[in-house]
Formats: sequence, C-alpha cells, structure tokens
Amino acid sequence: MQLEKFLTAAEAIVGSENVSREPTSGAPEGLDGSAAYGDPFPLSRPHRPGPAVRPDTVDQVRELVRAANRFEVPMWTVSRGKNLGYGGSAPVVDRNVILDLHRMNKIIEINEEYAYAIVEPGVTFIQLYEEIKKRKLNLWISVPAIGWGSVVGNTLERGIGYTQDAAHYKHQCGMEVVLPDGDLLRTGMGVVEDSKVWPLYSGGFGPGLDGLFFQSNYGIVTKMGIQFSPAPEAYTRILVEVPEEQDLAPLVGTMTDLMRRRIVANPPQLYGRMTLIIGAARRDPEIAKILGEHGNFARHIPHDLISKVSSILGLPAWCADFALYGPPEAQAGLLEAVKRRFKQVKGAKVTHETFNAMPGEYLRSEDVTQDFLPQSGVPSIDHALAFSSKEDGLWHNCYSPVLPPSGRELYEWYVRAKKITEDHDLNFLADFHVFDRYIISINLIMFHPSAKARLHDVQYALMEDSKKLGYLEYRTHISFMDATAAHQTFNNGAFGRFTTMLKDTIDPNGILSPGKQGIWNSTAKLERLGLEEK
Ligand SMILES: Cc1cc2nc3c(=O)[nH]c(=O)nc-3n(C[C@H](O)[C@H](O)[C@H](O)COP(=O)(O)OP(=O)(O)OC[C@H]3O[C@@H](n4cnc5c(N)ncnc54)[C@H](O)[C@@H]3O)c2cc1C
Repeated sequence: MQLEKFLTAAEAIVGSENVSREPTSGAPEGLDGSAAYGDPFPLSRPHRPGPAVRPDTVDQVRELVRAANRFEVPMWTVSRGKNLGYGGSAPVVDRNVILDLHRMNKIIEINEEYAYAIVEPGVTFIQLYEEIKKRKLNLWISVPAIGWGSVVGNTLERGIGYTQDAAHYKHQCGMEVVLPDGDLLRTGMGVVEDSKVWPLYSGGFGPGLDGLFFQSNYGIVTKMGIQFSPAPEAYTRILVEVPEEQDLAPLVGTMTDLMRRRIVANPPQLYGRMTLIIGAARRDPEIAKILGEHGNFARHIPHDLISKVSSILGLPAWCADFALYGPPEAQAGLLEAVKRRFKQVKGAKVTHETFNAMPGEYLRSEDVTQDFLPQSGVPSIDHALAFSSKEDGLWHNCYSPVLPPSGRELYEWYVRAKKITEDHDLNFLADFHVFDRYIISINLIMFHPSAKARLHDVQYALMEDSKKLGYLEYRTHISFMDATAAHQTFNNGAFGRFTTMLKDTIDPNGILSPGKQGIWNSTAKLERLGLEEK
C-alpha cells in the first residue's frame, strides 16, 4: 500500500482542500457539532478512520478508484456517514481511507406526476424535503427518524421510514454505479442512453443487478432513483395502546393482518414503556429525579423503578403508531374497520386524528402537526438531540433481527432478548417496525459510555440466541459484520463462497470497503487486520 502516493494523487484529482490527511475535519456536521469522521459511539474494536477524500463529480470518483487500484489503497465509501448505531462513517478495517461523497449533492430530477426523484449520494432527506416544499410539489417522501442522512446511503443499508414507502430498498428504481475497476454502469432500464423509464421500471432486460450494490462492497453508487407517494387528500394518524406486556402478541397479530389486507399501508412503529419513560424524564425534572442515577443508562434500570414511574404517569405497556392515507371518503370507512379489529384485543385503546385538505387540493406534509415519528414525511434531527459522543453522553447501538409477522413469535423473542440484555446490566428499548410479512425488531441499546465494555458481549449473546430461533439481523454495526455473516450457514456457507468469488473477480485488489457485511477477498488475512475470525 502506497498511502502517501495515493493522497498526492487524490489532491490532484479533488483539490487539497478536499483531502483530510487527519480524519478530524471535513465530514458533514454531526453530534455535538463535530466535523470529525468516525463512529461517535465506538465499541471495543478499533475502527478508526484514516484520511478522507471528498470528490464532487462521477469522473473524480472514477479517477480516485483508478488511483486506489494503482497504489493498492482501500477506501471505505460513505454518502453522508450518518449511519449512527451501526458505525457512523467509520470503516471495518482500522485506518482505511474514507471516500466521502457528501459533496455530490445534486437533485437530478423530481417528477411530481410519477412521484420519484433521481439523486446523487450526498442529497439528504432534509434537502429533498425542502426542495419539494420550495417548489410546492404535491409529494410525501419517506424519511428515517433522523433526516440528516443521505437518501442513497440509507436506502443501500435497507433503511426504514414511516410512510407507505417505508421499506426504502423496495422503492429504489435505477442506479448508476462506479465499479471497482473505475468503469461506470447503469442498472435496470438505465442501460439505454437517455432512458425515460430508468426511475419507473425497476426490472430491465436480463438479470437484476441492483441487489448486488445493497449492503455490499461491489461498487460506488453515484445516482439513484427513489419513488415515493403523491400527497394524499386526507391523513389519519392512529395510536393504539395496550396495558400489559403480553398484549404484544394480539396487538402485532392484528396489525400485520391489517397490513396484509392493505387496510393499513404504512408499517406500524411499536415502542414500549421504556421509550415513554425516557421521553418523560427529558421533559419532566420530577421524573428525572425519580430515575436518579439510573437516568444516565450506565446500568439496567430496576423493574420496580420502571413500574413506579409507569403507574405515576399511567403508561401503557405498548404503543403502536400508524396512519391512513387517501381520499376523505375512504378514511372514515377504513378507520371503522381498524377500530372494529382492535375491539377484539382486550384492553386496546384507539385514538386518532384526521387531517383533510381543502376540497380539490392535496395535503402538504407540513400541514399536518408532527407525529412522534415522521409518518407524514417531514424530516428532522430532533431524535439525535438526546445523544452525544462525549464521554459523559448517551451512546447507542442497535441489534436488529428480522422476525416473522407473528405476535406470538415476536413476544417469545422479546422475552428472551430482554432477559439477555438485562443480564448484561443494560436496557432493552423496543423499536419494532411491523410490516405485512416480517418485523424488523430493533433492540435500541442506549448506554452510558462507561458501559461500553458490555456491548460486545451482549451483542454476541443476542446473536447466538437469535441463531437458535433461526433469525438473522437485517443490518449490523461494523464491529459485528463478520460474526453476523458467519451465521449465513446454509449449504456450508454457499452465500459466503459466492460473495467472495464475486469480490475476487470484480475487485481483485480489494480496494472497495473491505469487510463490509463480512465480504472480503479470499486473500484477506483477518488476523492481520486485527479482527477476530468467528
Ligand atoms: C436515534 C436514531 C434514530 C434512527 N432512526 C432511523 C430510522 O428511522 N431509519 C433508519 O433506516 N435508520 C435510522 N437510524 C440509523 C441512521 O441514522 C440512518 O439510517 C442514516 O440515514 C444512515 O446514514 P447515511 O444515510 O448518512 O448513510 P451512510 O453512512 O452514508 O451510508 C451507510 C452505509 O451504506 C454504504 N454506502 C453509503 N453510500 C454508498 C454509496 N454511494 N455506494 C456504496 N455504498 C454506500 C456504506 O457501507 C455506508 O457505511 C437512526 C439512528 C439513530 C441514532
């Protein structure tokens, strides 16, 4: 590896002001106003970023890739690097160069009639939303809970939003990709010069290649089509609360059935008492006082304290937020159908609020008062404000397995995962994204940095337990990518053999994001890279 020669070449390509020889500056502003690269919540293994390079055109990306091959310098790609809870902008391999695409932030097209956009990797959800608002377009985009991340990075990670288009990867349509040898490829109908259907028809003629570039290290995505929804004429937000822990089973069973029947179209977001208690403690000094030293998440909050705060505040065990979108005539009928179904769930309380556009008009996202999470597609960074990368801040890591859409199986897993988390003196915070045929069951582990040493053990314990139940994560922190990939065991690891063969073939020098999702060249020596083989 000839790092110095690469950096000199990179300065000639992007300008010296767009090369950070030290990773302490140049990244888009993040937690605590920091412009440093890296993981704001670093765990036990070293994943320090090396220097960073920031191209702003596709040609510059191609030239950087060619230079990286010439000098055998691997680069870790990020679009905005805001992958908080999964490693931020930090690489798997300690000191890898960061290829930061945040300066490539052009919105190439927004099409109101067919409800899609084509964006470069640096475009944030906030930027796309503001552009739609500025142009007064009748469109509702789907955004994650924190809006400063990129549409491209979030979608490639199979990130989740809260509107009808919440499974972002399912709404991606067409990509432009720089390949590991510097060649440039378009997928789907983008294979045709000036295609009019590139962002409309996600198939193509021949094999679908888009999937190869999700959660992988096979290319650098430089443009992406993303589809969303026309603004509705009416919107009803619904909150369902249930009193007891075990009510999770009928609550979830009812919700997934309503989704499969297309009565509810956005994925209900489900959270429990602990989330409500944290929110209350941030608003109410009296509650913070009751939590006392436990309020800093250094240790597990005792059950009797949780019960005490719950009974003072009259908290339910579980809450589910979801919504109805569409013409006003349909809203009342759908709402009645939802209420009728929840009458069968003992103790369920349903509250709702409807917003209607003026006759002949459509509702703008900003006309709806905001929900706990952005079901009307208005991005914000409010949910990031509770966190700080400082040594006395609140840190966060996600454990995110995919479960079947069954309340019974979710409850069984929840009880086991909660016990494992509490046995490690940490707190289980439920963040369940309920879809028609699966549930992304996120255990949001929030912790005081002094508890960091326990994070590695709890994640391994959770992974091992989920494996017994046949579950795998949909996404994971950079520290756990190899261990998670090691659970892809069908036919003696056929998936891993194929991904390695592909990597060796298209990226023989291993210059793109080594170790991403546990994908390495066959020649990579994991021990030499300071990683455990699992
Ligand atoms: C409190 C909190 C709430 C959150 N809520 C949500 C939520 O609701 N939904 C959700 O999905 N996430 C959520 N997150 C996680 C995270 O903040 C978002 O997913 C965020 O959008 C990811 O950052 P990014 O878009 O900047 O992606 P990046 O960090 O830029 O990219 C993520 C990864 O994708 C790959 N990648 C990125 N760009 C490219 C490219 N151009 N070519 C090839 N590979 C690339 C890289 O491996 C990179 O590490 C939350 C985090 C926190 C702390």
